[in-house]
Amino acid sequence: MRIRFWGVRGSVPSPGPATARYGGNTPCVEIRAGGRVLIADAGTGIRALGDALVRERAGAPIEAHLFIGHTHWDHIQGLPFFAPLYRAESLITLYGVPGATKPFRDVIAGQMSSAYFPVRPDELAARPAFVELRGPVQVGETNVHYHYLNHPGITVGFRFEHDGRSVCYMSEPYARLNTRGEFMDKEDAAVARFAADADLLICESQYTPDEYRRRRGWGHSTFEDVLDLAVRAKAQRLALFHHDPAHDDAAIDDIEAACARASAARGGPPVFAAREGLELEL
Ligand SMILES: [Zn+2]
Ligand SMILES: [Zn+2]
Repeated sequence: MRIRFWGVRGSVPSPGPATARYGGNTPCVEIRAGGRVLIADAGTGIRALGDALVRERAGAPIEAHLFIGHTHWDHIQGLPFFAPLYRAESLITLYGVPGATKPFRDVIAGQMSSAYFPVRPDELAARPAFVELRGPVQVGETNVHYHYLNHPGITVGFRFEHDGRSVCYMSEPYARLNTRGEFMDKEDAAVARFAADADLLICESQYTPDEYRRRRGWGHSTFEDVLDLAVRAKAQRLALFHHDPAHDDAAIDDIEAACARASAARGGPPVFAAREGLELEL
């Protein structure tokens, strides 16, 4: 499996000189497995991925399998700018879980209604397929599982497994909200089981512990929570992800260093802060 980060920022795009090194695009991760293109989330990072696919395929049909973990704006905002959707020969499938009030397709269509965007999903030349997940799916030789997470709105994490390797993508995992208790502990344990032994755990880790105190219940984690999860799950590597838009490159360097120190002290996995353009082979 080859992983490439196209967008690593949470909440809202944050371009500019202060964020140039890690990047300002919102979540999008490409997973190449067995020659197939799988994509986690369609934040603004997906625009450059789409353009790269168009160049790479040079007129040949583009097949892509797009998994949406969460339909808050930052995770779907790039979709209307995904160039393969405007090519009739593309084979695009979008996967997501049913929304709280409407089907997955209608949730995605909402951001493309005429007040917000000039092209409706049914006008896209590629005529993408929408799959509402009811269980794990298989794409070629890759198995994709999902697990519900604790975040406002409906959110799932994905686990991509291919040829004995696995990557877990947790766009926005659990917040501690205002309590710890039996229910929350059980849910946390279930998330750790879902991520068990992942070769790479990509996890939303927006805040420092100090920032979290003022943003409790927003649905985001601290890097300490995420390290806890990685240690419990025995993940082989941890990618800090969904960086706060207010964090400049130096702040992310500091978070990465603090998390790496904490991990070393606990015998945890190697830790790095994801940045746009970073590519890894698993
Ligand atoms: Zn987000
Ligand atoms: Zn959200």
